[in-house]
Amino acid sequence: MSLEDRCRRELPYDFPMPNLLLATNNQGKVREFRELLAGCGWELVTPAAIGLALEVDETADTYAGNARLKAEAFARASGLTALADDSGLEIDALGGAPGLHSARYAGRDTTHADKMTLLLDALRDVPDERRTARFRAVIAIATGDGRLLLSEGICEGRISRAPRGAGGFGYDPIFLVGDGAFTMAEMDTAAKNRISHRARAAAAACDTLRTLHHDDAAGPAAARI
Ligand code: IMP
Repeated sequence: MSLEDRCRRELPYDFPMPNLLLATNNQGKVREFRELLAGCGWELVTPAAIGLALEVDETADTYAGNARLKAEAFARASGLTALADDSGLEIDALGGAPGLHSARYAGRDTTHADKMTLLLDALRDVPDERRTARFRAVIAIATGDGRLLLSEGICEGRISRAPRGAGGFGYDPIFLVGDGAFTMAEMDTAAKNRISHRARAAAAACDTLRTLHHDDAAGPAAARI
């Protein structure tokens, strides 16, 4: 193997890690991303850690569009490569609601406990076999020099009859996974990160981040993809 090939293979681990800004103020997401992106060769920083206070209006009509808005706004404001996700819960019996509006369902200031109560009420007469749902996440990575990379992940499940569990965040207590024995809130972060929508999108994002690190470390000429 040539010296160049060897360097290319080993670069992500031999060079200092560049900073990746997590473009979110959601502590549940930060916790998950810290585990999901641990081996990708980037030093994760939060907006709070660099003194950046930024709220981005999610005005796009797709997950990808909103993820892009957030990633690009944080990259522009910081000069760093930024990673954002946009995600939501899609319930088939409610025509895909709350979907893109999951965070704002019944008002942004309503707690998730109240949002879940409303959803469970709306589903009261829906039998178990028709309570199918999925979490969907799209991750956008915006680089300081204007590139944008997208990946998507889905996790299929069903809506429970009552909330259960204290882990995770958001709608996790009413989302049954696998054969329906557990809600996502009854799993620890490591278990959730083996199956979640965000984990699936992050696996592809991690490959991208390794390539970016590798190319950036190899020099500016190699950094265009
Ligand atoms: P976003 O910050 O605009 O992407 O809002 C995503 C919203 O979707 C969250 O506020 C939750 O309501 C919901 N959501 C997304 N991912 C999850 C998850 O992993 N567990 C529970 N709820 C989630």
